Parts: sequence; structure tokens; C-alpha cells
Amino acid sequence: MEIYLLAGLAIVVVLLAVGGFYLVRTRRSVAPGEEETPPEVTREPKPAAPEDREKDGGADLLPPAQAPPAGEGATAAPAEPELETPPPSAGRMVRLRARLARSQSALGQGLLNLLSSSSLDEDAWEEIEDTLITADIGVASATQIVENLRTKVKVLGTRDHDEVRALLREELLAQIRTEAERGVRTAPHGDRPAVIMVVGVNGTGKTTTTGKLARVLVGDGRSVVLGAADTFRAAASEQLQTWGSRVGAPVVRKEEGADPASVAFDAVARGIDDGADTVIIDTAGRLHTKTGLMDELGKVKRVVEKKSQVDEVLLVLDATTGQNGLRQARVFAEVVNVTGIALTKLDGTAKGGIIVQVQRELGVPVKLVGLGEGPDDLAPFDPEVFVDAILG
Ligand code: GDP
Repeated sequence: MEIYLLAGLAIVVVLLAVGGFYLVRTRRSVAPGEEETPPEVTREPKPAAPEDREKDGGADLLPPAQAPPAGEGATAAPAEPELETPPPSAGRMVRLRARLARSQSALGQGLLNLLSSSSLDEDAWEEIEDTLITADIGVASATQIVENLRTKVKVLGTRDHDEVRALLREELLAQIRTEAERGVRTAPHGDRPAVIMVVGVNGTGKTTTTGKLARVLVGDGRSVVLGAADTFRAAASEQLQTWGSRVGAPVVRKEEGADPASVAFDAVARGIDDGADTVIIDTAGRLHTKTGLMDELGKVKRVVEKKSQVDEVLLVLDATTGQNGLRQARVFAEVVNVTGIALTKLDGTAKGGIIVQVQRELGVPVKLVGLGEGPDDLAPFDPEVFVDAILG
């Protein structure tokens, strides 16, 4: 009996073992098949690559959802910020003169104290000349100012503060005034907009000045198209987009590394199509190799000229960089025909004399001055307001 029970038990154990073996084998044989058919994954639709969006070379404006409104007839994107109304340019320098007075008055006061002192001897004249040179006015201009003042003070025999101030004012103005047209050429010509190229070394405030100039023009009632031709820095294009969106100026831009000349060309084409008053083109400002820069800027200008004359080439210089800024100015003047200077960061230096030196060196007038980091801190340059601000 026990034998039968044990035999039955053995049969059950054997059957269970065989069943288990087959079960495991079956699972194993399915597993590779499962690996061949991966589980379904829900993917987000892939965004179109920039090259797809811009395939035809003509789609250089941002897609409608991101593009800023293009003035009249533009379709505003839902998330578009409210457009700002910048103040007009008239009187800006007067409004901002306190910024100058803060940084420059040491120069003006120092000169006036020396000139009205009772002992106006050789040492005093030398100190006057040194003070002018320290303010970056340049040796040639400083010498000329001192010579003229010496003669006039002798002839008039005066030390009266107001009279001396008037003499100094006259001399400084004589150094700053130029025959050349001071205003930026922004008015359209018949069926084409005025075209302005903004050039300068990175960091001088070139892109900021382009954006601020757009605000100045919009504030004066002009319609503006911006061209982000500094395609070497994605940040510059983004920055310009922000400036444009704030005042409703369309910004023509392409992907980083795109040909700057083609952006400039398309910006001018857009300006003509839109019937805009002014097109402002921000250019790249790398000074690593002079030849590279020369080629690039020259090309941008030549390509733009296929579409329109370039009315203004504004060179942006940082007033705080002194002699270095002048060296930059010389390089740019060799490359393109600079027609005006935008001198930035004049609020951050007591060396406003650079205005005299740069005008003298380049033979072109300072047309705009940057007097702060605020969006409306760019002013058309007014020599009289400038001199009065530094003389207090
Ligand atoms: P870019 O590389 O030449 O295009 O220079 P950006 O336009 O980016 O400007 C460089 C910096 O200079 C920014 O922080 C600007 O806010 C600042 N900046 C530009 N203009 C002025 C100015 O007139 N005054 C002051 N204080 N800062 C300025």
C-alpha cells in the first residue's frame, strides 16, 4: 500500500516538474519577440526645425506667433505685450543733462576755478591744459583752447567768474561745433525708407543703441523696421526682437550664423514693402581680425546697396574707453564711410572731452549720446546743452 502511495506521489512530483519546465521555456521563447516589438511610446509632436521654417530663404521674419506686430495691418499675437509710446526726441538732452552734470561738472568747475583765480600764472595755464587733456579733449584741441583763452583773458583783463565762464563756453563750443549735419538722416526718400547701418565693437552698446534709436524714431512718429544682422550672437538678435516688440517695429532676423548681408538685404526689402520710413540695421562687431571685419561690413553695405542707398553709417563708441575707442574709430572709418557717431555711456565718465577728439579725428559729428541704461536715455546731441551742463 505504502509503495502505491509513494509511487503516486512520485508521479505527481514528476508531472509538476515537467509542467514547470515547459512553462518557463514558453515564457523564455516569448521574451525575445517582446523585445523586438517595443512598447508604444506617446511622443510630443516634434517642433519644426529652424531650417525647415526658413527653407525658402524668404522666411526670415519670426513665425507669426512670435513676430512683433508690423505697424498698421499687422496681426498681433495673443501674448503680445502692450505697445509703448516713447517720448519724442526734442528736449531729451535737456531732460538728461543732470546725468552729464553729475559726471562732468568736476571738469567744468575745475577749469572755472583756475580761470577766475587771481594768480593766473604759467602753472595755472598748464593746469588748465592738463585738465582738458585729462578729460580726453585731445592735446591739439587743449593747446588751442588754452592759447585762445590766454589771449582773450589778457585783452579783456578779466577774472570775473561770469565773464570767464562765457569765454570758456565759447571756446569749448568752437571745438565741438562742426559744419557737418548733426541730425541723423532718418527721413524716407519717396518710395524707399532711409537706411541706417549701426556699426561698432561688441560691448560698446551697439544693439542697445539700435533699439533705443528705434524708440526715438517711433516717438517722433516714424515707422521703423529693424534688421538683426549681428547673426554671430543669438543674444543680439533676441535683444533686438525685444526692443522692436516694445514699440511695434518688425525685426528681420535669421538663425545664428546666417549670412549678415542677407539679413540686412531682407530688412531693407521689408522696409520698402511695408512703406516704412526708416530701416535700422544692427551689425556684428567682432574686431578679432581687421580683414574679417572689413570683408563682412563691406559686404553688408554692398549687398544693401543693391536694394537701396545707405543714408547713414552710425559708429557706436563707448565714451568710457578713451584712446581705445579712438583706435576702434580709426579702424571702422577705414572699412566703411562713417557718417555719424553715437557716443554711449557718457553718463558714466567725466571724460566727455572725447566728443571733441573723436570729431576732430574722424571729421564726422557726434549725432547721438547715450546717457544711461534706460530705454529712453539716448538723445540727439546738442553741443550747447552739453557745454552748459559741464560748466554748471
Ligand atoms: P553691444 O555688444 O555693442 O551690442 O552692446 P549692448 O547693446 O549689448 O550694450 C552693452 C551694455 O552697455 C548694456 O548693459 C547696456 O545697457 C549698456 N549701455 C548701452 N548704452 C549705455 C549708456 O548710454 N549708458 C550706460 N550707462 N550704459 C549703456
